[in-house]
Amino acid sequence: MTAAARTVREMMAYLEDVLWFVGDSTYAKRGAEADACDFCFGNPQEMPLPEVQQAITRWAAPQHKSWFAYKFSEPSAVRVAVESLRARHGIDFDPADITMTTGAFGALAATLRSIVDPGDEVIYLSPPWFFYVPMIISLGGKAVRVDLPAPGFELPVAAIERAITPRTRAVIINSPHNPSGRIFQPEELTALAGVLRKASHPIYLISDESYCRILFDGRPFHTPVRYYDRSFLIYTYGKTLLIPGQRVGYVAMPPSMPDRDEMRGALMTAQMVNGWAFPNAVMQYALGDLERASVDVAALQRRRDRMVSALGEMGYQTVWPAGTFYVLVRSPLVDDIAFTELLAAENVFVLPGKVFELPGWFRISLTANDDMVERSLPGFAKAMAGVAVVTSD
Ligand code: PMP
Repeated sequence: MTAAARTVREMMAYLEDVLWFVGDSTYAKRGAEADACDFCFGNPQEMPLPEVQQAITRWAAPQHKSWFAYKFSEPSAVRVAVESLRARHGIDFDPADITMTTGAFGALAATLRSIVDPGDEVIYLSPPWFFYVPMIISLGGKAVRVDLPAPGFELPVAAIERAITPRTRAVIINSPHNPSGRIFQPEELTALAGVLRKASHPIYLISDESYCRILFDGRPFHTPVRYYDRSFLIYTYGKTLLIPGQRVGYVAMPPSMPDRDEMRGALMTAQMVNGWAFPNAVMQYALGDLERASVDVAALQRRRDRMVSALGEMGYQTVWPAGTFYVLVRSPLVDDIAFTELLAAENVFVLPGKVFELPGWFRISLTANDDMVERSLPGFAKAMAGVAVVTSD
């Protein structure tokens, strides 16, 4: 077998449960039916924001002959990112340090490709987003897992320190965290930065801030890049606007990043060989208009409150999310796949924890609509009652 074939097998083996879930599970077969309550992924279950259509339509009209020519990072889009980052974090990013990407996927792929050599280790926190590990494997790197402790999901700084070796190239951190909804706090980020600085060689911090604008209860977001210089900030508009199919985001290197000169060229080259992975021209032109729009975070918060309190009354144990649009719930059965099948029998579809390295739990996406929430509650109650009967026998 060739090395390439081995790498593909390794990636597929890691994704086996996800592939089963989207390809063969009851959700795959029945999740799209009209009466299904679909809480599985962060996909929209309501009509898109009208501002998105207006922006795309406005900017689809060509203004000159190069309108649809090959695009790198469009200066107008970069300016939008710079202004947005300044307004949100009070940091002045250099426009040359912003690379426009096809969402956070593209931003992570370009960043990892710019820094990971075969044999390098990249530390990630578990439960993770599904694609960190396959992306690391795709570059011949080794993904090193460090667990976030349930149910608090505090940043495991001491465990990260123990996981660092001479081959550690980067640490990926995701705040607000999918799936727990946790926002990492300044003390935790300061401690992490201290550990990374203490290492005997340079280590990069890759900060996945995909959900940094989905915050509840007026809580502030703390960008990890403020705490550690050798950082990449990863952002996508896919969450804020709930348009994951439109593929736009960026990588930003803060002015304090020591090797940003070298990394500018590396990111640009990675973007090209990743398949000219810059966002399409229209999405880049439209970014100024898109930047001003957002999903209704207050509505998401109300949905969170309704869901968490209703599930709590039924006896479910949940993690109270401070941000993101997910609610993590402890499975009443140790076997979360078996329990999610009980829910599926009630037309309620959730993501089993086994799929994201957290067996014994499941995840609910609040991007479902209010009607789905209300219709699902009797199903959640019935599945719980079924388990109570089984365990009391
Ligand atoms: N990182 C995290 C933590 C995510 O949850 C997601 C999307 N589910 C991504 C990255 C990828 O985002 P996008 O599809 O917008 O590129």
